[in-house]
Amino acid sequence: MSGIVVVGSANIDQVFRVERIPSPGETVLSHGLSTALGGKGQNQAVAAARAGAATVFIGAVGDDAFGEQVRSGLSDDGIDVSLLRTVAMPTGTALIAVDGTGENIIIVEPGANGQVTALTSADAAAISEASALVMQLEIPLDTVVEAARIARAAGTRVILNAAPIQELPEALIETLDVLIVNEHEAAELARDNGLDAEPEGVGQRLLALTPTVVVTLGAEGASLHRVGAEPVLVPAHRVTAVDATGAGDTFCGAFAAAVVEGMLPDDALRFAGAAASISVENHGAVPSIPVREAIETRLK
Ligand code: ADP
Repeated sequence: MSGIVVVGSANIDQVFRVERIPSPGETVLSHGLSTALGGKGQNQAVAAARAGAATVFIGAVGDDAFGEQVRSGLSDDGIDVSLLRTVAMPTGTALIAVDGTGENIIIVEPGANGQVTALTSADAAAISEASALVMQLEIPLDTVVEAARIARAAGTRVILNAAPIQELPEALIETLDVLIVNEHEAAELARDNGLDAEPEGVGQRLLALTPTVVVTLGAEGASLHRVGAEPVLVPAHRVTAVDATGAGDTFCGAFAAAVVEGMLPDDALRFAGAAASISVENHGAVPSIPVREAIETRLK
């Protein structure tokens, strides 16, 4: 197998549409509930698979109906779920209330995602055989470090989306091939590592940590930074954005798929930007992730 292994989180997002966000002690009625698959790990695995990569997902779901929904959703996208654990915990759940102005409140119960620990020999074999390991920071950090170490030893590329941002241990930083962050995460990471956190040039400065850095810039696009090369800015497609949930994850998954396929980094950035621009035109995380054909059409 020469594809992608994603080690990460899987959630069910429950989105309540409300007139206004309730104050403490107040009850408001929702006028529409939608349930969608989400969680950064799951989103990125789906984005990679829909972009055309053979993808394995390593994570954990609960022994509940939501866990079944995650498992079958991933399978329907052709993702290998043979290493997905079922544990005696609730499946990770995000409870989201959105008002008419787009303002929201979010409560996340990590649930089973906290149980993605103790990688097995089968996990290690899958990581070692893959072209790239793709991770985020919604599962225990020790597991992220361990998976990265296995990948590094086997020559598997390590692509880390450092979100939600937290301090990265040296043992993780030294394994990285590609770091993908948004502007806020880039600044935070620079600060944590004693670098100047000014937005201007922060991607170049983060090259002190890893050979390739991608900074996503929302509606401005994304920039690519490589040791020994000039930075490249790829502007975003102009679209009518309705929901940016999962845009960064779509970008990461599509970028990883493009890289393992052998696309040059600049082309991989364009491919990922096209995929992410489609995701912001549609609601939800997983439901908004485009298939390869749609990405190619956007690139024409
Ligand atoms: P995150 O969601 O992680 O904060 P960004 O907001 O930087 O990440 O978005 C990730 C990528 O999604 C961007 O690099 C861009 O390609 C795409 N994107 C985000 N917002 C828009 C938008 N309004 N129009 C077009 N593309 C967008």
